[in-house]
Amino acid sequence: MMLECNSRTEEMKRERGNEVMRKYKCAVCGYVYNEAAGIPGKGIAPGTNWDDVPSNFLCPVCKAPKSMFKPVD
Ligand SMILES: [Zn+2]
Repeated sequence: MMLECNSRTEEMKRERGNEVMRKYKCAVCGYVYNEAAGIPGKGIAPGTNWDDVPSNFLCPVCKAPKSMFKPVD
């Protein structure tokens, strides 16, 4: 039977399509970067992963560097 194989493929598809959008919080001022929202005004499109945010990104509120942001649960 191929049933087991099929259900495994479905499972992988589901994981792929279900990419979690995370949030990152500025440890200095508490500003939260939301991957799903991005910062269109700063040229960061909605849906941009934190890893894809430029390393020279600065907090729009307090100008803290990207390294000061911590993941939010
Ligand atoms: Zn900040």
